[in-house]
Amino acid sequence: MTIMKLIIGYLYGDLMNIYGDTGNIIALKKRAEWRGIGVKVKNISAGDKLKKGDVDIFFFGGGQDQIQELVAKDMGESGKGKVIKKEIARGVPLLAICGGYQLLGDFYNLHKGPKLPGIGLFPAYTLASRDRMIGNIVIESMFGRLAGFENHSGKTYLRKGLPLGMVIKGFGNNGKDQTEGCIYKNAIGCYMHGSLLPKNPKLADWLLKKALEVKYGKKVDLKPLNDTLELQARRQVFKKLKCG
Ligand code: GLN
Repeated sequence: MTIMKLIIGYLYGDLMNIYGDTGNIIALKKRAEWRGIGVKVKNISAGDKLKKGDVDIFFFGGGQDQIQELVAKDMGESGKGKVIKKEIARGVPLLAICGGYQLLGDFYNLHKGPKLPGIGLFPAYTLASRDRMIGNIVIESMFGRLAGFENHSGKTYLRKGLPLGMVIKGFGNNGKDQTEGCIYKNAIGCYMHGSLLPKNPKLADWLLKKALEVKYGKKVDLKPLNDTLELQARRQVFKKLKCG
């Protein structure tokens, strides 16, 4: 029996991690370890190099506009943006939240500042606005009903492609068209902090499964876990927002 191992790449983990984003890394790590899968978390930050196969799954959290400026510059200059795109093209999974999601689109147009270039992974662009979209959010998605917490002023518009889901309560991509997030290959971008994965275990397991399948080149079935507490936590959000 092969002992499976995963390397989680935490993109700019020291700079981009707000509203519980690191909880997503903890959820991925614990859910893998509870199944006997070894996990290493690697922070990939400004100035670091990244090459094919360095990590099996990417996570990119949120951050304030000033930090995003620095990170956008580094992704271009260090070549990491290009490598991330190539890795996603071969099926490596990724989850990006809010500020991270914005920088993986075409661009993020700051309010009082430059237009930050994105890496063009998601067919989307973001415009700063005067509205703050803040609060718990519930969406309907291919992973079922998901709960999270959003806090952003950037409004994201999909040029094409698939949203992660449709908003039931909250704002989502732009507070207008009811879409939330974007899916491309096995990469997901969205506005759901919170943390997202501890409360939405099906999504966490989808990312783990994809990572293992790409790494080991075979179909992987993950052992079910007891998710009573996780689902209870999520139900609390649904109850609070009176949606299910
Ligand atoms: N600075 C971005 C915005 O306000 C992202 C914030 C975040 O990551 N929560 O839209």
